[in-house]
Amino acid sequence: MNSADSESLARRLLAAGYVEDSLDRADVAILNTCVVRQASEDRVYSKLHELKEWKTEARTIAVTGCIVAKEGDGLRRRFPHLDAVVPIGDYEAFVAGLEARYDYSQGEPLPHSGRTGISHFVRVIQGCDHNCTFCIVPSVRGREKHVPMTSVVDECRQAVAAGAREVVLLGQNVDDYRDPDGRGGLAALVREVETIPGLRRLRFLTSHPQDLEPQLLEVMASSDVVCRELQLPVQSGDDTVLKRMARGYQTRHYRAIVENARRLMPDIGLVTDVIVGFPGETESAYLNTRALVEEIEFDVVHIAMYSPRPGTYAATKMSDDVPQEEKLRRLNDLLALQREIAARKTARWIGRDVEVLIEGRDELHRPYGRIRQGKRANVLRAGDIAPGDVINVRILQATAGQLTGMPAA
Ligand code: SF4
Repeated sequence: MNSADSESLARRLLAAGYVEDSLDRADVAILNTCVVRQASEDRVYSKLHELKEWKTEARTIAVTGCIVAKEGDGLRRRFPHLDAVVPIGDYEAFVAGLEARYDYSQGEPLPHSGRTGISHFVRVIQGCDHNCTFCIVPSVRGREKHVPMTSVVDECRQAVAAGAREVVLLGQNVDDYRDPDGRGGLAALVREVETIPGLRRLRFLTSHPQDLEPQLLEVMASSDVVCRELQLPVQSGDDTVLKRMARGYQTRHYRAIVENARRLMPDIGLVTDVIVGFPGETESAYLNTRALVEEIEFDVVHIAMYSPRPGTYAATKMSDDVPQEEKLRRLNDLLALQREIAARKTARWIGRDVEVLIEGRDELHRPYGRIRQGKRANVLRAGDIAPGDVINVRILQATAGQLTGMPAA
């Protein structure tokens, strides 16, 4: 979601004649922030401290993203060298102010690096209507607002016309999507977008086990464009903990979704999020999570230690009763387990031919991209391959995180 916001602001600035550059040559530094965990929030403060050295009369520092909703103008009191606090999505006045200060519209356009434009993020829902007890998102991003299907399809069409080969539909809980004009939910939207000529790949994230419709899995299974990857956070493998988290489902429900997804798409890529050390998570509750991770064999598990976020239900009404060292032990235990599982799973790709959408070249100048199931693939002896090409690759090697292969005959 933050990447999508950064892209949207960057597009607006590029249109005004601005280019991305290194910090020492730049006139403007913009921090797009995340506050989902305390560590992310702390990083913003430390970056703002660092920028004090960089700041001069002629330079501008701006902050946008979730911290703005959380801290508001208090940020400027705490960091007097900060020039602008920009609410999420409210970029017009900010860019107009910059344009009045630095006019680049007549300058020589400079090439800007880093953005291949192969993948385009499209926000379809802003905010979230769930109330997971650990989560700060609803209070900083607000309640759900759904973008009309016609606008989403138009944006995707324009992105493809401008060179994108993949679009990623985004929502905190993307399965909740409902077109405000009554044309249907996420499955209907996916069906519309996948028919755009020139679009090679379509992804959507993040899914919620309570809202994911079986029909969506059927659309995924029957499409050559929709990627076979599901980002489906489980958060805990213990029903008591899930209830305390107010997630709205039980583990048997989660298992049923995975079973159905694998029946339709046996090689589907599964990504999940897990929190260890949530208030009231006993050793046996943790072991239930461990058992679920072992049983399902996810491709990727993002594991976080619980940290109370001010203003959430869990922070105000529940005791953070799992000691820090125990949280760390559970985190490391689960990481070790998942490393083994991921290595085993990626090894299964060796010898198979897979379709790779090329996204760029790595530091050794080798093309890399992703397979439809989400894994990164590096391509050896690729010859004349450009970002945006889709090629078949025979996988020769695999590590826990990525695949390597050569163009298939
Ligand atoms: S579904 Fe829950 S965890 Fe996800 S953004 Fe909404 S409140 Fe947060």
